[in-house]
Amino acid sequence: MTTRLVIFGAPGAGKGTQAERLAQHLKIPTISTGDLFRSHISEGSELGHLAGSYIARGELVPDSVTVEMLKERLAAKDTKDGFLLDGFPRNPAQVDLLDELLGDEKLDGVLELTVDEDAIVERLLKRGIEQGRTDDTEDVIRTRLRIYREQTAPVAKLYAERGLLHSIDGMGEIDEVTERLLKAVSAL
Ligand code: AMP
Repeated sequence: MTTRLVIFGAPGAGKGTQAERLAQHLKIPTISTGDLFRSHISEGSELGHLAGSYIARGELVPDSVTVEMLKERLAAKDTKDGFLLDGFPRNPAQVDLLDELLGDEKLDGVLELTVDEDAIVERLLKRGIEQGRTDDTEDVIRTRLRIYREQTAPVAKLYAERGLLHSIDGMGEIDEVTERLLKAVSAL
């Protein structure tokens, strides 16, 4: 059986943390486009250079670049039983691009983590200090939240129309949120 999932939510909703936990339970790999970009940047690859300036500003990297990187990652053998996508799709065009990439291999569900905006800014500023992420400064956070509202939030509606969207309360203890997510996945 395969499990193909997307985890979705505003920056700072806890997607990365929850994706790792969920993937471990489900024995499928997490594919985070943000992490893929960050490894390209730290390796100093051409793609890393290209993506770096967009990421530093909190803007989306162009779709063509992002989708090529994802295509390569999805071709790896470890995705044969499924995957959990974190950070993709991030705009309606990427929804179509993902459909094209997957072909007959349809998504099983899209898990949306919901949190309130005050909690988000607080979490992201804390993460900036703890993890040294250069895009977790107040200015860039504001840009990322605006981009989320304008470009990414409409993705939820598209998946809701397909009956794939499951909204999960992302507030509370990390363990509690993981439990909620696992419950949603087992009901798919
Ligand atoms: P994340 O780690 O998911 O918060 O992503 C960090 C940054 O990487 C984002 O602010 C974007 O600049 C870039 N990024 C990640 N995923 C995508 C995507 N699907 N499309 C475009 N840019 C992306």
